[in-house]
Amino acid sequence: MPFLIGPMHQHIDGRKELTAHNEILRPEPAKELRIALNHGNTEAKCLVEVDQEVKIGTKIAERSDFVYVPFFSPVSGKVVRIEKKPGVNLRPVTYVVIENDHQERTEELSTLSEDANKEEIIAFLKEKGIIGCGGAGFPTYFKYQTDKCETLLINAVECEPFITSDARMIEEHIDYLKLGVRMLFRASGAKVCRICIKENKEELIRLLEETFHGEQGIEITRLKDLYPMGWERTLVYEVLHKRYEKLPIEAGAIISNATTAIYFGRAMKTGLPIDQKLITVSGDAVKEPHNVLAKVGTSFHDLIEACGGYTADQVKVLAGGPMMGSSVNKDEVTISPSSNAVTVLKYEKDDEIACLRCGTCADHCPSGLRPVNIMQAMKANDLTRIKLLKVSDCIECGLCSYNCPSKIAVTENMRRAKRLTALRK
Ligand code: SF4
Ligand code: SF4
Repeated sequence: MPFLIGPMHQHIDGRKELTAHNEILRPEPAKELRIALNHGNTEAKCLVEVDQEVKIGTKIAERSDFVYVPFFSPVSGKVVRIEKKPGVNLRPVTYVVIENDHQERTEELSTLSEDANKEEIIAFLKEKGIIGCGGAGFPTYFKYQTDKCETLLINAVECEPFITSDARMIEEHIDYLKLGVRMLFRASGAKVCRICIKENKEELIRLLEETFHGEQGIEITRLKDLYPMGWERTLVYEVLHKRYEKLPIEAGAIISNATTAIYFGRAMKTGLPIDQKLITVSGDAVKEPHNVLAKVGTSFHDLIEACGGYTADQVKVLAGGPMMGSSVNKDEVTISPSSNAVTVLKYEKDDEIACLRCGTCADHCPSGLRPVNIMQAMKANDLTRIKLLKVSDCIECGLCSYNCPSKIAVTENMRRAKRLTALRK
């Protein structure tokens, strides 16, 4: 059981004003879309061949081991290449490259009745490949296969700096949110559904209160503007005052992201899978930060170009926000159904100094880890000790690096340690 011994969370300047209210950009979809066929570290099985015609909603790949995740074409056109290139974690992944014919031809897609029962909802979530849109990408159907849920938490916290795509999705698609939440609530079997949002998002809270007024069992829960409030363990602890070992259901909770509920509501009405995403393109090194609506498979490069390009010669491009995001090769990586942000930061020369052994990283770790000890164990190549120190509980929140006075890339070291333990099981 993680001890949660740190302060758990702290206020971090969000810089959300850069994209919270300006226009949403809707650039013309690219001529070529490159769909990465990985789900986390697992490669999906490709179901198409070069020269095959596809439409919006054609299934092009699937993962079917202990979870099922289908991959769909976001445009109509033709498969022109299947290639291996670096993915978000810099490891090579397979991409299906589709030449867009801009005809927007769509497969015949099934929809879902608002009278659907739990089993029908779960089957539909699975068939449409609805996954967690908050960055994690876990298949939504999987969480709802339980009869132990007491509380459904809809996560609209969006605590990471710069990112505003969830908030903008709620503003733009409040009817889909209402439908998606109502149906997820039914599928969960819970007595209460709490839509969790930060207390400083006053306009959004008013909109949610109006929208869900009179919906039995659905409440709006205000939370402090702290990081990482949107992390599942923090959310369960703050809202339900409970802790759990592995999954929120141990505390009687299912958690779904607000944008996930929106895509579910959209799929119910239109039959569409997640074929496009709203991506916050922001940071101190992008000229005109905006939210950009783009097809899955659009390159990070095109998204940044749509926002006017860079303000600096040397930049760091992250998939995700500045705290939890991973550095990527912007020319290779494309957006996936779980993407929510591209952050572009000025590259700063590494002025790291020796570890002071001050313990600040441990004091701020919401998982109760001792990062400095894990780094020592890495230096000693002591895999047993790394595992004993529970590096697998690291959520890569970035607080250790953010607070380290020696400017050590502590989080990056935690990622490496996690990869090491995963590789040498
Ligand atoms: S916060 Fe930085 S300097 Fe302090 S113990 Fe951790 S790694 Fe070392
Ligand atoms: S990145 Fe990992 S080790 Fe660092 S503070 Fe967050 S949970 Fe703790």
